[in-house]
Order: sequence, then structure tokens, then C-alpha cells
Amino acid sequence: MSNQQSYWQKIYLQLNHQWSPLHRRKSGVPRSKQVGIITTLGMLLLFATPALAHHPLGGKLPANCFEGMMSGFGHPIIGFDHLAFVIAISLLAAGIVRGIVIPIAFVIATGIGTGIHLQAIDLPIPEIIIAASVVLFGVLLVIRQNRKLALSYTLLISGLAALAGIFHGHAYGEGIFGAKPTPLVAYLIGFTVIQLAISLRIYFVASKIYKSMTFKYLTRFAGLAIATTGLVFLSSAITG
Ligand SMILES: [Zn+2]
Repeated sequence: MSNQQSYWQKIYLQLNHQWSPLHRRKSGVPRSKQVGIITTLGMLLLFATPALAHHPLGGKLPANCFEGMMSGFGHPIIGFDHLAFVIAISLLAAGIVRGIVIPIAFVIATGIGTGIHLQAIDLPIPEIIIAASVVLFGVLLVIRQNRKLALSYTLLISGLAALAGIFHGHAYGEGIFGAKPTPLVAYLIGFTVIQLAISLRIYFVASKIYKSMTFKYLTRFAGLAIATTGLVFLSSAITG
């Protein structure tokens, strides 16, 4: 556990360093930074074990506000299928018309999905659909065109992301089902904030470089890694 924590700390520090505003230039993103982003994402996608763990508290229900918040922060990161999906939609959204709608639609939908779960409504085969959504968005990233796309594309992808979000959110609900109102609300705030923070950060950085060849390679590579991650989860969900 402590190893895993220091791993994420390292990733965080590296991301923070590379994406710091101090490193920004007026004329696009420096090459060293582009390489840095690719390296970081590559490390993130290749070396993070697709752990099937999803709960920072090891399955224990959060008992107070702090635990609820921490659990909410942790779930979308420790649950690597969720993280892979958030990375995919954020990169996919960059450089397309009203692209920002895509991550926002997803994040709102995760809240709705959790609400559905808290109403004790079970969705069919959630794990398989979540894994399939990761595969699909990985593939969408690989085949993404490096040009401005029509608003209809944004709306289509937003719809798909929202649909997937209901299932991802349903899975988040699993981690809080039965908790008291205070940790429950803190958990909802926690996963909403962390998902928005990750997706908007990636979206805004990627939006600056989406015209470059680097971004073209980055999306292909990340898409491939994300689709592969989804396949690992999919096979595990199917074989149980
Ligand atoms: Zn999960």
C-alpha cells in the first residue's frame, strides 16, 4: 500500500512539474514538455498494474466526512478502469468543437449512476459494460482525426461518455452503499472533484498541443494502451 502511495505521489509530482504554468511558452508547448507528457502518460498507462482494487479503505465503509472524501478521491484513481476512461475522454475532447462538454457530461453522469445505485437499482452486467467502454474509447482515441470535427461528433461522444458514466458511477456507488449521509455526500464530492480535476487538466493541456504531430502520436499511443487496459478488465469481468 505504501509502495502504491509513493508511486502515485511520484506521478503527481512529475505531472505537476511538467504541467506547471511556469513552463508554458507563448508559442506552443516546448518539445521537452511534449516528450515529458508522453513519457508520463506512457508510464502511467504501462506500469500501473490494472489492479482490480477500487477502494482506498479496502472495502470498509467510510465512517466520517474525511474518510468519505478520501475514498471519493481515491476510487477514480485506484480503479484503473475509471482512470483510463477519464484519460481517454479528456484526450478525445481536446481540439474538437465544444469538446469540454464530453468530460463534463461524463462526470455528471457518474453522479447520476451513483444515485441509481443508491436507490438499490442494479444495472445489468456493469463490470462488462465499464470495461467495454474503456476499450471503445481507447479505440476512438486511436482512430481520432487530427482536425476540427463537427458539433455532432461532440454530441455523439458526449452521449456515449454519459452512458458509460452512469455505469462507472454505478460502480462508485458500490463503495458507499449503506454509508451514513455525511460520508456519502463527501464521497460524491470527492469523486466529482477528482474526476473534474484530472479531466480538465488533461483537456486544457492537450487542447494547446492538439495540432501537433506529438499529439497525434500521443493519442494513438494512449488509445492503444487504454484499449489494452480495457481488454484486461473485460477478460477479467467475463471470466469472473
Ligand atoms: Zn470502481
